[in-house]
Amino acid sequence: MICATQAQATSHAVPRRRTIRPARAVCRLTIAINDRDYQVHLNPAEASAARKAYRLSKADGTAYDVAQHLSPPRGWRGPKGSGEGLDHPHPGPPPARGRVYHTCDCPDFIFHRDGIDPEGCKHIKALVAYGLLDPTE
Ligand SMILES: [Zn+2]
Repeated sequence: MICATQAQATSHAVPRRRTIRPARAVCRLTIAINDRDYQVHLNPAEASAARKAYRLSKADGTAYDVAQHLSPPRGWRGPKGSGEGLDHPHPGPPPARGRVYHTCDCPDFIFHRDGIDPEGCKHIKALVAYGLLDPTE
């Protein structure tokens, strides 16, 4: 005697198709740098001139624009002693293929890192550490 279970009896039934709506992703990215929270936003205004561009903003409204460029950005000074950059009277060879250049408009980058520290300011270091920017080399 053959006895079909209910599952076997219905296994050839056409499954009802569910209507799947597009996935919804309302999201926000926060990065903590030295115990300070920054909201990370894509920066489309900078993106036209940069490969990747972000705006980091703190709760007090302070915001910094951080970007990655594939060629030296306008005014780029180059690492000190490298012979690269616009400040050097005899610019060196063209930048290596695949090299990236980072900029940030925070005071630390402008006054203490640009052309001096190839790793950049804390904003650049944090975004590189989490893969939002590529490492310089
Ligand atoms: Zn910075």
